[in-house]
Amino acid sequence: MFDTLSDRLQLTLGDLGRAKRLDEDAVNKAMREIRLALLEADVNFQVVKDFVAGVKAAALGEDILKGLDAGQQVVKLVHDRLAELMGSGDSKLAFGRPPTVILMTGLQGSGKTTTSAKLALHLRRQGKRPGLVAADLQRPAAIDQLEQLGRQIAIPVYRTDTSDPVRAAAEGLERAKGDGLDVVIVDTAGRLHVDEALMDELARVRDAVKPLNVLLVLDAMTGQEAVNVAEAFQRRIAFDGVVLTKLDGDARGGAALSVKAITGKPIKFASVGEKLDQLEVFHPDRMASRILGMGDVLTLIEKAEAAVAEDEQAEMERRMRSGEFTFDDFLKSYRMVRRMGPLKGVLKMLPGVGKQLDGIDVDEGQMARVEAIVLSMTPQERRLPHLINGPRRRRIAAGSGTSIDEVNKLLAARKQMQKMMKQLGKGKLPALPPELSG
Ligand code: GDP
Repeated sequence: MFDTLSDRLQLTLGDLGRAKRLDEDAVNKAMREIRLALLEADVNFQVVKDFVAGVKAAALGEDILKGLDAGQQVVKLVHDRLAELMGSGDSKLAFGRPPTVILMTGLQGSGKTTTSAKLALHLRRQGKRPGLVAADLQRPAAIDQLEQLGRQIAIPVYRTDTSDPVRAAAEGLERAKGDGLDVVIVDTAGRLHVDEALMDELARVRDAVKPLNVLLVLDAMTGQEAVNVAEAFQRRIAFDGVVLTKLDGDARGGAALSVKAITGKPIKFASVGEKLDQLEVFHPDRMASRILGMGDVLTLIEKAEAAVAEDEQAEMERRMRSGEFTFDDFLKSYRMVRRMGPLKGVLKMLPGVGKQLDGIDVDEGQMARVEAIVLSMTPQERRLPHLINGPRRRRIAAGSGTSIDEVNKLLAARKQMQKMMKQLGKGKLPALPPELSG
């Protein structure tokens, strides 16, 4: 996500942050580089101009240059302004007297149908009872797709056999209401381009279901084109917020950084993959941190929490404190990390780790091998790893299709982790293992 932009900004700001003293020339030079980086990221020209002018004025105007940590302060300034650019204030959905209606709009292929299902799942995890209404009658396959997605996550989907999208939406809503659902997400038709017919139909569907939230789904990978689409929608259908999709494939970030400034509407959600749990609440400040390689520990913690049931968490914590860390625990924590998504994405959220992963292939296959090794141990061996002697190591290696060397490495890694856990349990920050530090 935003890799190209991120690289360039980090390069510029890295130099700036390390500078002992800063003068006006140094700031001007950095601002020129930031300007270029943003333009290359396909951020709207006017947005870039205003942004750079704002940062520059603040950096030169607020006695920052006189301070000892001038570089760091300018970096912080860029961070805060980036966050502001992507939106400040409330990005929450509105909820009213149930059922709360959410109208999903956007062009075909933007990810509207997938996002509808993702949003339903997200809301159910927050304790709501959501349902999906199929009103995309342009593509017959869209209704089947929505039904299929609904089945995958056990969310009811309402379809009506009619060619009138307004009727399909209104009837679907009535039935969902009758079933006692408290949030109804209406998936509407998209076209390849914004056109009058699409806008007319949308306006009629909107008037029929009276949504409390109108969300515009935009494909981040289309950059400025996404912003143009947003402007075109804005003129006809007032939307309340944006869902940016395919951020996982967006190296540049132009849409994310322009859409709020151009339309005045916040980005409410970010979709970061095809899987149904790959929808994140959009936090501008955290996104700014990620772009600048400062990590996003808060999102990481939330992901970890979502991946582990509460009782499991408490149990893990207790065991950690007591310094126990068997291979069963090892396996559990491994699986927890895997449930959080692709490993590289997870690691990148740690402060300072982002850049270091460049060019390094985080080997997901390696993780599968580790799991295979642990699963080839007997329950007793997992509980009491010191039992694992030479012959047992050979057996485990053969059973898991790995080598004795790999088994040995894993045994050493568990020991290392146990030591770290013990230190954590005592409230100390663990020392990094030698191969990771320095
Ligand atoms: P619609 O025509 O707007 O309803 O779009 P769909 O929901 O059918 O999505 C179009 C394609 O984009 C599908 O193949 C989705 O799997 C894919 N897609 C949607 N969201 C994302 C995302 O966040 N990341 C990636 N990589 N693919 C996505």
